[in-house]
Amino acid sequence: MNLKEQERRKKLMQSQAERMPAIKKRFEEQQKAASTAEIKTVETGAAVIFEEAQKRHFNSNFKPGGKDAKLVSRASSKTGTKKAQAGSATRAQAATKPRASQTATSGTKTTKAKVAKAPINLAVSTRKGDMVHHQKMLSQDVNAQASQHIIGVPVNKSRYNGYNGTQVTKSQLNSARTDKDSVLIIPIGGTGEFGIGKNMTIIQYKNDAIVIDMGVLFAGDDYPGVNYMIPDIKYLEDNMNKVKAVCFTHAHLDHIGACRHILPKIPTTVPIYGTDFTLGMIKKQMSELTDEPDLNYITVDPLKHEILKCGELSVEFIHTLHSIPGNCAIVVRTPNGVIYVSGDWRAEANPMGVQTDYERIDEIVKNEGITLMLNESTNIDSPGHHPHSEFDVGESLGAVMDHYASGRIIVSCFSSQVSRIGMVLEEAAKRGRKVAFAGYSMINNVEVALRTREIKVPKDTIMKMEDIIKLPDDRVTIVCTGSQGEMNAVLNRMVSGAHKYVKVKSTDTIVFSSNPIPGNEPHVVNTVDGLLREGAQVIQNGKTHMTNIGPLHLSGHAYYEDHVDFVTRLKPLNYMPYHGEFYMMEHNAEMAENVIGIPRERIIIADDGDVVELTKDHKIKKTGRVHVGNRLYDDADMPVHEAVVKDRIHISREGIFVLVLTLNKKTGRLLKTPDIVSRAFIYLDNSEELIGKIRHYLRLKTDKNTYSDSDVKTLKEEIKEDVTRILYDATGHTPIVIPVINKV
Ligand SMILES: [Zn+2]
Ligand SMILES: [Zn+2]
Repeated sequence: MNLKEQERRKKLMQSQAERMPAIKKRFEEQQKAASTAEIKTVETGAAVIFEEAQKRHFNSNFKPGGKDAKLVSRASSKTGTKKAQAGSATRAQAATKPRASQTATSGTKTTKAKVAKAPINLAVSTRKGDMVHHQKMLSQDVNAQASQHIIGVPVNKSRYNGYNGTQVTKSQLNSARTDKDSVLIIPIGGTGEFGIGKNMTIIQYKNDAIVIDMGVLFAGDDYPGVNYMIPDIKYLEDNMNKVKAVCFTHAHLDHIGACRHILPKIPTTVPIYGTDFTLGMIKKQMSELTDEPDLNYITVDPLKHEILKCGELSVEFIHTLHSIPGNCAIVVRTPNGVIYVSGDWRAEANPMGVQTDYERIDEIVKNEGITLMLNESTNIDSPGHHPHSEFDVGESLGAVMDHYASGRIIVSCFSSQVSRIGMVLEEAAKRGRKVAFAGYSMINNVEVALRTREIKVPKDTIMKMEDIIKLPDDRVTIVCTGSQGEMNAVLNRMVSGAHKYVKVKSTDTIVFSSNPIPGNEPHVVNTVDGLLREGAQVIQNGKTHMTNIGPLHLSGHAYYEDHVDFVTRLKPLNYMPYHGEFYMMEHNAEMAENVIGIPRERIIIADDGDVVELTKDHKIKKTGRVHVGNRLYDDADMPVHEAVVKDRIHISREGIFVLVLTLNKKTGRLLKTPDIVSRAFIYLDNSEELIGKIRHYLRLKTDKNTYSDSDVKTLKEEIKEDVTRILYDATGHTPIVIPVINKV
């Protein structure tokens, strides 16, 4: 252990000892305050959660009528299986039919091409059937990878599916008619999809419709070259004349990220409602368009409780807590009752800003009642209540600055965590440190937060990157993006040395004030490894046992018991989980039925495109579907066609193989040795034998060529098929084969 490390540890122990009395005192004070003011203290820990669950009706699937009760009754119905078998037999028959017709067409093709000569011996040892099987499996894999998001009619046999647990049929959908007196709730995106995002909901009554949120979904590695996807808005476009308002709950990208693509299609007279910060972020995004539309933005102050008329509907914004400023739920008043759209939310006993507007919520519940609640589902699987507050995170950030006082501190967090950024500024200022921001989205967010006065900046604390690096290390704090291990984000560039101003060194301390989003873990590990290889200190959330630093992150979404409390408070007549993957929505619905006691027929799990009706007599049902889907975009905001994505996946797995043939116009013979280009498949220099075999085949194929000009297409098809066969025989792979034929 070197001297510096010894010193650091000594300091750590010392500061721990110094902090102990203060922590004890605060704990005692809190206890006292709780008992006098009767404030409900936040209880956590496995024992407490278990006890709470026992006290009330536990979310059990085993109770009569629960999920597992169904399994018992199912075992006796054998007729069902028989029917299913018969069904699959008919399907198999149907499947053979098109195959027969295919052979017929290829037969006619051959006669057309007038190829009377004997087929060339390809000298392959594998069966053609093996190759066809390989190609079939491959195309299934490619399709599955490229279509993980809802298209067509998704499978939904949840007991909350609105059809009593049976799959909705095409004929049911074809005959479905919505009741003209019903209010329609149509999720265009954001329900039951892989990955959380592209949130967008339409609420419609007769000729009036409101749109809530327009989000993106980040596509992940399964979609090569795709940066994000947005909802297909065909339904909105077909009903554009009915749109009376567009409302935004908050400025996270899964709620506003699709604005630049969708808002330009909204008539400029339609009001676009949101809080100051939310609209600020939207305007920032829109300002990047080359022809920015002149839209009717209207800033809402949720604490004023304004009721905004939208035809026969109206909306009211309700201030709720989340991990971004200006967050709201939306109350939609309809002729068939009040709909509470939760947006994203979390419960905090001790928030940094203004507490959730429980007063107004209680007032609405008491005076009007909630007929339908749409509730987000993100953290439904996290037990207990929120374990700590943002203040604790601030304290931890301060502790890091104390423990590693002599070096640079680099804090990485989500750019939308404005209050977190505010705390870094405050803690840094207290210690005479300066702060610089790095990363495009980070700078954008801070700019809007300053303009809308969402953060207070201690005097002379913020500096430009190019200036801060001239200061001694112990005065430097950098806040940057990259906490999710994004390859191109600032943090990774600081590791690799690609960043213009900062290269990570061994005296730096990097704080991950975030948790990896599920799926991003390997990327975060990669970034952490890179930082540690440079000798830097890395402090991650949830590793207190190693670092002695408290919590460094707080999730923006309510935990299970928070949901129980809040739904109990709202007493909704009907319940619809949204904003979540399918399992989250299912668990949310189970909570509503088994813990809150909402009857099953009053809970619906909808998929994107389902039309949910809130009827005149305050019931909910599902009637039909509207067209939904995805639009894919690359990182230059340009559209990417799904077929392109499938090709990319195919190429990434099997490669591409191009043959360029130059033929004599008259004789049809090869004029020169064909050019062969192989990419992402085999390395040509090591494959002379295989290439020789293919050249030999091409010579035979074009020798005594009887193909006329119009038959070049057939020639190409045949070459493609034969070469694929030869390649599969040699390598076990079927790359995309592209023959190019020039006649001179
Ligand atoms: Zn959010
Ligand atoms: Zn969200």
